[in-house]
Amino acid sequence: MKINRKMSRTKEIIQVEKWISLWSIGQEYSLEDIKQIKEHGFNGVEIWAEHHLAEQAFKYANECDLQIGLHLPFHDLNLATQYDEIAAYTLALTKKWIKKLAYYNGSHAVIHGGQAMASEDLDKVYPKMIERLKELSDFSLANNVELLFENQIPDGLNYMHILPSNIEEWLDVLNKTNTKACLDVGHLAIQGDEFKDTVNRLGGLLKSIHLSDNDGKSDLHLLPNDGTVIQNNIINVLSKQNYQGPVVFEINPYKYSLKDILEHPSVKEFNI
Ligand SMILES: [Zn+2]
Repeated sequence: MKINRKMSRTKEIIQVEKWISLWSIGQEYSLEDIKQIKEHGFNGVEIWAEHHLAEQAFKYANECDLQIGLHLPFHDLNLATQYDEIAAYTLALTKKWIKKLAYYNGSHAVIHGGQAMASEDLDKVYPKMIERLKELSDFSLANNVELLFENQIPDGLNYMHILPSNIEEWLDVLNKTNTKACLDVGHLAIQGDEFKDTVNRLGGLLKSIHLSDNDGKSDLHLLPNDGTVIQNNIINVLSKQNYQGPVVFEINPYKYSLKDILEHPSVKEFNI
């Protein structure tokens, strides 16, 4: 009886995969670094499209037999822009990266929703953002890539409206655009929402986790337990939901080295 319980718990833990965002290791990396990531038990890497070496990263990950995801570029790109020219550029560049990911048999691409230039413009830009995101989602699926829409930190001033700024808005976008969810644990904590409740509300829409710790006020991207928001029950909560995707360590490269990350107990033991 005891053995059975232990076996089923082990089986549950195996469903959650250990990944790392390459944003975490800074702009300069080599094949040797990616090999070390593989040797430390990671199942996959999320490539940061805006890295100088992003093109190389696809080849390195392939060579190391790591699964591949992609964080799509977002600086200067705004899906909720009021300007059609900027939207056209955003869509074209995003599609180029989705194609590249598909070429390397990548599984998922993560996207941000952008922002209304002023919160008063939200009603005007929301349908436009939905239409553009739906176009990208259809394009992704046609290329065997799953598009994941990530929760963001609301603008506390409410000058701009960041999409999505709350769980209701997030679910509405996911349903209207046939995209799935990437849940950033650090963003969620600053927004003030509870992890377990959010995982339950997302249900089967949840396909990836961005993992980092912070102080509940700023998006510091700390290693687990260096802040105050990681409660060491992440894998437990996910397993209970039958979650079978990646937990992606998305750690501040300006504070930690790759060695710091690889030797951290939360990474070594994957105990979070
Ligand atoms: Zn994130």
